[in-house]
Amino acid sequence: MANSPSSAPRQLLIVDDDEEFAESIADILIPAGYAPIVADRPDTAAIAVKRYSPPVAIIDIRLGGMSGVELLARLKAERPDLVGVMMTAHVDTQTAVTALRKGAYDYFDKSCNPDELKAVLDRAFERHGLEAENRAAYETLRVAKEAAEAANRAKSDFLANISHELRTPLNAIIGFSELMLSAAHGLIGNPTYQAYVSDIFDAGTDLLKIINEILDLSKAEAGRLELLEETVDVASVVRTVVRLVGPKADDAGLSLETNIPDIPPLLFCDRLKLKQVLLNFLSNAVKFTPTGGKISVTVTSDLTNGFIIAVKDSGIGIAEADIPRVLQPFIQVDSALSRAHSGTGLGLPLAAAMIELHGGRIQVASEPGQGTTVSAHFPAARIVGIADIMPALGLPFDTIEQPSEQRALKQA
Ligand code: ATP
Ligand code: MG
Repeated sequence: MANSPSSAPRQLLIVDDDEEFAESIADILIPAGYAPIVADRPDTAAIAVKRYSPPVAIIDIRLGGMSGVELLARLKAERPDLVGVMMTAHVDTQTAVTALRKGAYDYFDKSCNPDELKAVLDRAFERHGLEAENRAAYETLRVAKEAAEAANRAKSDFLANISHELRTPLNAIIGFSELMLSAAHGLIGNPTYQAYVSDIFDAGTDLLKIINEILDLSKAEAGRLELLEETVDVASVVRTVVRLVGPKADDAGLSLETNIPDIPPLLFCDRLKLKQVLLNFLSNAVKFTPTGGKISVTVTSDLTNGFIIAVKDSGIGIAEADIPRVLQPFIQVDSALSRAHSGTGLGLPLAAAMIELHGGRIQVASEPGQGTTVSAHFPAARIVGIADIMPALGLPFDTIEQPSEQRALKQA
C-alpha cells in the first residue's frame, strides 16, 4: 500500500557507496515526508529490504563491487513489488536504457535539483500503489474464480449423484408399468386404471429422459462425457430419427423432407450421441412449427466446409437476442407453442456439448416468424471417404487411384 505524505512517512531505501551523498539526499527528503533508510553496501541494502520492506529504493548505478542494476535484481528477488530508481553521476542514455530494461522503474541524475528528485519519487510511489491495487484486484478475482469453479464442481458432483440415485427407482416405475401395460400377468380390469398406468409409464419415461440429460450435461461440464466412435452412415441415423418424429409431424400437419447425397455420407462419430442431437433438432422443429409448416433435413459434406447436418423449419423462429440464450441450460423462450409442449430446455445445450466433443460446433440461424435452421458442423477430418470403406464393402480398392504407400499399407 502506498503511503501518502499526509499520512505515514514514505519509507524508502537509499543505496550509495558514497555515504555522504546518500545522507545529503536523506536530509532533503525527510522534511518532505519521507523516512529514508541509508545503506552503503549491497549486503546492508539486502538486510534493510528484508527488515523494513520499503516500497521504493533509489540505488546508485555504480556501487564499487556490484552494479546497481544487479543489486536491484537481487532485491527484487526478495521483494518483487520493490520499485527501483537508479541514480547516475550524469545520465548516459545507454546505461539508463539498460537499467530500465533490467527492471528499474526510473532514473535520475545525481546533479538534478530536489524538486526533480521528488517528482521522480512521487511517480515511483504512485507506481507501487497502482501495482499493489492490481495485485489485490487480481487476487480477489483469482479467489472468486476458484470459488466459482469449486461451486461448479460441487454442483456437477451433486447432479451426478442425485441423477444416479433417481434412476434406480425410476427404472422400477417404468419397468413395472410397462409390464402391467403389456398384461404380462393378466389384464387390468378397470379402464381408468389402465389409463393411469399408461400415464405413469409416460411420465416415468419423460423424467428418465430429463435425468439422463442432466447427467450427461454435468458430465460434459466436468469433461467426463466420452465418445464411442465408429464409422456411421448418417443417412440411416436420419431415417431412424425421421421415423421417430414422423407421427408427431403428421399429427401437426407438417411436411418433412430429407436431402441426403446418393453416396453414403459417412461420419466418424458417436452414433447414439448423433441420434440424440438430431432427435432434439427435429423434435424442436416439430414443436415450434405451426400447422402446415415445412421441415427439412439436409446433409452435406465436403473438405472445405466439413460435414454439416442442417434441420430447417418454417416455424415461429427465435429472436436474435435469444439465440445465445437457447444454448444455455434450462432456457426456454416463452411462447404459446413452448407452453403447449413439454421440455426442459436441456436439448440444445446438450446437443452443443456433444457436437463440441466431436471437435465441431452448433449453429443456430433464425428469423422470428420465418423459421429456424439449426445445424451440426463436424470437422472435415471426420468425413470417412469411400476409399476408406471399399475393402469393408468387399470392393477391390484399386478401382480408385490411391497413393502407392497407402495401398501397400492397406494390402498389408
Ligand atoms: P428439451 O429439448 O430439453 O426437451 P426444449 O426443446 O424446450 O426442451 P431446447 O431443445 O434446448 O429445449 O431448446 C431451447 C429453447 O429454444 C426452446 O424451448 C425454444 O424456445 C427454442 N427453440 C429451439 N429450437 C427451436 C426452433 N426450431 N424454433 C423455435 N424455437 C426453438
Ligand atoms: Mg428440445
